[in-house]
Amino acid sequence: MNDQHFMQLALAQAHTAAVAGEVPVGAVLVRNGEVLAQAHNAPVSLHDPSAHAEVLVMREAARLLGNYRLDDCTLYVTLEPCTMCAGAMLNARLRKVVWGAAEPKTGAAGSVHNVFAQAQLNHQTVNLGGVMSDECAKPLQTFFNKQRAAQKSRAMATRLRDDAVRTYESAFDGLPDYPWQPNYISELPSLNGLRMHYLDEGPADAEVTWLCLHGNPAWSYLYRHMIPVFLAAGHRVVAPDMPGFGKSDKPKKDSAHTFEWHRQVLLEFIEALDLRNIHLVVQDWGGILGLTLPMAQPWRYESLLVMNTLIATGEQPLSQGFLAWKQMCADKPLFDVGKLFARGNPQMSTDECAAYNVPFPDAGHRAALRAFPAMVPSSLDSPGAEISRQAAAFFKKQWQGRSLMFIGQQDPVLGESVMRELHASIRACPPPVLLPHAGHFVQEHGRDVARQALHCFHPHTQ
Ligand SMILES: [Zn+2]
Repeated sequence: MNDQHFMQLALAQAHTAAVAGEVPVGAVLVRNGEVLAQAHNAPVSLHDPSAHAEVLVMREAARLLGNYRLDDCTLYVTLEPCTMCAGAMLNARLRKVVWGAAEPKTGAAGSVHNVFAQAQLNHQTVNLGGVMSDECAKPLQTFFNKQRAAQKSRAMATRLRDDAVRTYESAFDGLPDYPWQPNYISELPSLNGLRMHYLDEGPADAEVTWLCLHGNPAWSYLYRHMIPVFLAAGHRVVAPDMPGFGKSDKPKKDSAHTFEWHRQVLLEFIEALDLRNIHLVVQDWGGILGLTLPMAQPWRYESLLVMNTLIATGEQPLSQGFLAWKQMCADKPLFDVGKLFARGNPQMSTDECAAYNVPFPDAGHRAALRAFPAMVPSSLDSPGAEISRQAAAFFKKQWQGRSLMFIGQQDPVLGESVMRELHASIRACPPPVLLPHAGHFVQEHGRDVARQALHCFHPHTQ
């Protein structure tokens, strides 16, 4: 009975250790039925390899008694003592040790060897093991299971699939106006172990989340002018790099990229992060895919900020500008991405343009760039065309959120005429804001776009 009572106290100490991130072992030292000292394992927090629970309770008790000899004391500990602790008990002439779970690797009270059974020693400490052993083993099992799971998820995060490549992290160091910490996710079923990168800035419990989706051949860098505006309003911003782009893993095969797969990745991503009160921000493929997302879970979305893009239903031929772009990508598969940005954006610095080349150091990293232009649904039965028609119908008839459209008028690919058509199919969308100097990549003029959108969706925000 008494043994159980004191072992319970030792177990409480073990739980305290677990909370502190220490291996959960607890001990109490008892004299004449009275607890003299209680302690838990603390080598990590005390920076002390000898700070085992047993040593700590003996130290405290000896201090209280003014005597290093504890010959009328009993020590209760949840785990079989190690050689050091068993030795210290003998040095203290401890009368009795009662321990819980056996320790098959380092136990010195019978499991590996038995320090207490040395016949040549004058003093003998009574050694009683296995008291409440199951209860005592439980916190240890839980602790090590958790540790193993954490190790596994760290390994998952660094593992690279055989059929994918990854741009060196250091290649992204020091890019202008991109100070944000990387976040990675690889647990989505559709990613099947591929690692996807995303920015996640601002408070997790912010009133709204701006979900910023990039297109081809860009990445989350595209949103560097808009993100600070949203953060300054106290909002959250989430900006993923689609697989094949930016800091995300890049499948080696062009055929890995399909409309359905990328859409599924985005749906699972939004669900995994449980994003709500979303202001959806789209442009280019960010819209071709992104505009098909709200109909799946309309309750997650509040507003739409749409820049040069389309819903590719396959009902109408793709624009001449788009066909020319598709042809260029086919003719010059190694085209310079930075130069593409420079051409439409004289205001960009050399370093900013170069930042768009960073994800793609060689042809092996460019599968997405090769695959995407041909993936835009061009006929009624193209993959993605049917889901895009559903999306168009959704935005025309069911969309309940607010909308705001910006048109970069210098865009030869998805310019004003394409955008006017899209505008007609978004329910209750106010007249578009025309940006005469902006090209396809409207986000490069994003500071003003973000301010206007913020003012539109949050009129009371400064
Ligand atoms: Zn020990």
